[in-house]
Formats: sequence, structure tokens, C-alpha cells
Amino acid sequence: MCRHLAYLGPPVTLYELLYGPPHSLHTQSYAPREQSHGTVNADGFGVGWYPYSESEPASGDTGRPNGPGPLRYRRAMPIWADASFADAARAIRATCVVAAVRDATPGFGMDESCAQPFRGDTWLFSHNGATGDDAALTERLGQPPPAGVLDARTPVDSAPLFAHAVRLWRKGEDLGAALASVTREARACAPGRYNLLAADGRQLAGTAAGDTLYTRTTHDGGVYLASEPFDDNPAWRRVPDGSLVVAGPNGAAITAVA
Ligand code: GLN
Repeated sequence: MCRHLAYLGPPVTLYELLYGPPHSLHTQSYAPREQSHGTVNADGFGVGWYPYSESEPASGDTGRPNGPGPLRYRRAMPIWADASFADAARAIRATCVVAAVRDATPGFGMDESCAQPFRGDTWLFSHNGATGDDAALTERLGQPPPAGVLDARTPVDSAPLFAHAVRLWRKGEDLGAALASVTREARACAPGRYNLLAADGRQLAGTAAGDTLYTRTTHDGGVYLASEPFDDNPAWRRVPDGSLVVAGPNGAAITAVA
């Protein structure tokens, strides 16, 4: 299983988010505390963000993304092997972020295209789990891939899930409702693990379906969703398996997926 993390709130640097905490995503890449499938996440990493620029504040909307986006940085190498990114991450500020460190599911490639988050239109998406590469699931959810979304064609089991999510979002489904539908439909095809995470710059959504998921809100209106807590703050809440969490400026709400 991979580890993933999403943040929405006041601007933070990617360094603060991914490297700063005592049990950051960087640390989770080589020493996860709650990972039940696999031991290290060395097969790539990625971060997608909606940038925030001090010099171009959106009209009165302090803290909202006001730059182009989402942007991404992905690599096929372990995050710990890319020291230059740790430097660059100190200079990048964002109000909404999705990041993942990857432990490739056996049978799938190791190139950069497989590193999540995936991006389609204005959405970021990450899948923590494995589908079992069931042909019915690929056929039912992945085909045809949504036009113009290259990541929906990535040769990895997460791609059909992403393809279906984009299809539903393009039809106007809510960020979270679409993830719940994808999780339900995937489970009906194959008994895999489907912890999904998504962002649109203004909201986060995640499902807990086979692996751990936690959420934490901060005093200044920020919210995190994470495979495992990145520190020992008692404010982390475990999201029950079979649940959807949707988080926005007013906090996080948990409902059942089914
Ligand atoms: N199945 C996905 C992949 O191969 C996610 C892997 C994971 O969660 N470890 O990238």
C-alpha cells in the first residue's frame, strides 16, 4: 500500500507539509507506522498542488488558490532519493495539496507515469490500494478513458478508478459523491482495497475502503486527510472503514460509502 496525504487551508509550503512533521510523508516512505501491505514506499512519489501567490491575491479571497493549477511534481524514485525536491519544496506555497509515496502493486510498472496523484481537468486523485487488476473492473470503469486525460490511460490498476471518477465529475457529481460511487462500483467488481483521495482546490474527499484513513482539522481552518497521522497530535480522528470523508473550509464530514 502506498501512503497518501491531502491538505486544504491557509497557504503552507510543500516542505512544511511533506517533510516538516515528525512522521511526515517523507518519513512514511521508509518507516510507515500503520502500513499493513508492504514495508517501504520506494517506487516513486508525487505531489499535486493548487498554488498560492502572495503577489497576486484573488479578490478578497485570501487563502484560496489564485494561480494556475493544479501543478505537479512526480518522480519514479523514492522521495528520500530526491534531495533537490526537498529544497524546491521550501519555495512552493499552496492552499490545497494531494501527495503520495508509492509501493507499486506487483505486476505494474515503476515509471513516473504510475506515480500519483493523477490529474484530470482541475482535479487531483490518488488511490491507495490494489484492485487485483480484475478485467471486469477495468472494462466497466476504465473504458473509454475520458478524452484529454492522459493519466486515465496509465498502465496501473488505479487508472480505471480515476477514469470513472473524472467521468462522474464531468457529469457534475460532487467531489465526494463521485469517490463513493467509484468505491462502491469497484467493490462490486472486485474485492480490492480502494482508499481514494481527491481534491478540486476548494474541497477534499477521501474514502476508507480496506486501509487506514485519518482526518485532522487545525485551529486556523486547515484540514488534513492522511493514510496515517504525521504527528502525535490527539486531534487526529480515524475514519471508519467503509466511509467517505468530505472536507472543506467548514471542517470534515464523515458518511457511509454504501
Ligand atoms: N495499485 C497502486 C499502484 O500500483 C497503488 C499501490 C499502493 O497503494 N501501494 O501504484
